[in-house]
Amino acid sequence: MAALIELKDITKEFNGQVVLRGIDLTIEQNEFVTLLGPSGCGKTTTLRIIGGFVEPSAGEVLFDGKNILDTPAHKRPTNTVFQRYALFPHLDVFENVAFGLRVKSDPLSTLMQIRQLQDDYQEKIRKLKDKSEIHNLKKMLKEEIKILRDPNSDRKKEISKLQKSLKTLSNLDEQEKIKNQIQEIKNTFVTKKTKEKEIQDKVSKYLKMVGLEGYETRPVHKLSGGQQQRVAIARALINEPKVLLLDEPLAALDLKLRQEMQYELKEIQRNSGITFLFVTHDQEEALTMSDKIVVMNQGEIYQIGTPEDIYNEPANTFVAKFIGESNIISGTMKDDYLVSFDDVDYPCVDKGFARNEAVDIVIRPEDIDIVEKGNGLLTGLVDSIAFKGVHYEIDVKTKDRIYTIHTTDYADEGSEIDITFGPEDLHIMEKW
Ligand code: ATP
Repeated sequence: MAALIELKDITKEFNGQVVLRGIDLTIEQNEFVTLLGPSGCGKTTTLRIIGGFVEPSAGEVLFDGKNILDTPAHKRPTNTVFQRYALFPHLDVFENVAFGLRVKSDPLSTLMQIRQLQDDYQEKIRKLKDKSEIHNLKKMLKEEIKILRDPNSDRKKEISKLQKSLKTLSNLDEQEKIKNQIQEIKNTFVTKKTKEKEIQDKVSKYLKMVGLEGYETRPVHKLSGGQQQRVAIARALINEPKVLLLDEPLAALDLKLRQEMQYELKEIQRNSGITFLFVTHDQEEALTMSDKIVVMNQGEIYQIGTPEDIYNEPANTFVAKFIGESNIISGTMKDDYLVSFDDVDYPCVDKGFARNEAVDIVIRPEDIDIVEKGNGLLTGLVDSIAFKGVHYEIDVKTKDRIYTIHTTDYADEGSEIDITFGPEDLHIMEKW
């Protein structure tokens, strides 16, 4: 697969505070990639650097192998869906989606759209502190308004240049060539008629993709939160960006709707063939939707991998803690295949740690089994048991600690049980 986006050694400082340090990331075409990490770790800043809303302090952003740092946001092959939908409440579903195309091409009611555009930008500008970012956004707004006022303005400029050069030419063949060029440009003029048919077709295509076929004439304020978010996604997709940047787009929805939308978003991504770069701090959301998860903490990438990789082979204790549940135990490497904790040596899979090195041992709750009395590695008392739907969560108190285990077996509170785990269930990590 070809790399679509590459971030190379990206660093970002805001007023002397380093918020991204040495970010290297490759995103392939047609991938669903999720930036996952706790609040403040730098996910949004990374997304905004790709979208062109924030300039990195150092490093490169490549798109199809070309550096795009000098390309303004509106000229980048990206589009963004924000947490707040920023829909136009007085427009119906069709017009909200069509807006994505019209702002870039043929304006119908230009003045009204300029006002909406200004509101939209104002909202973004209000959240910014950095003067150069505000300046950039204002410049973008101006550019977008220019296109709104006259979608052919750039073409007209080109034609007038050619007409000027025509006057300087005496050779008839050369004159003919320039006249042809002028005609060719005129043929590409955006007209209402051709544009309207294209808009109709595209709005239908993307409303169908987000499951809102037949909702064209509904005012958006009468839609549910989930439906509104789908309108926002259709509006962002309709320009057919190469990459859709989604900044916690499901955060405002209630749990059930959010879970439904997680599956739908993945489906929309597959059907559209557009690369999605998604930001969330919700590990379950990331595991459900992503082809690739990028785990971030304190401005750094800790691990990049498939959901299975990240869950089964966390790179460090932070990742193990952040994704899924874990029993985390301090221990010492005794030998290549032996780790010691709570005064017992356990066989483990070799990870190349030095003898006597202090390590963290991660054991997932579902990797600990209850076994017949006398057959376990450890004996303990059932401290608590809770039914979780597919499994029980049991806290077992052994001589040295409490192990949390997930099992379909039931055990009475207060009873004594034996538990066991295998060498491959002990994930040995560098001491955190
Ligand atoms: P959240 O999930 O809370 O949005 P995040 O991982 O997306 O967090 P960022 O929004 O990228 O994190 O913020 C990373 C750090 O950069 C935070 O400490 C934040 O306060 C700081 N930061 C972000 N934008 C600016 C800005 N424009 N000016 C100054 N500091 C900023």
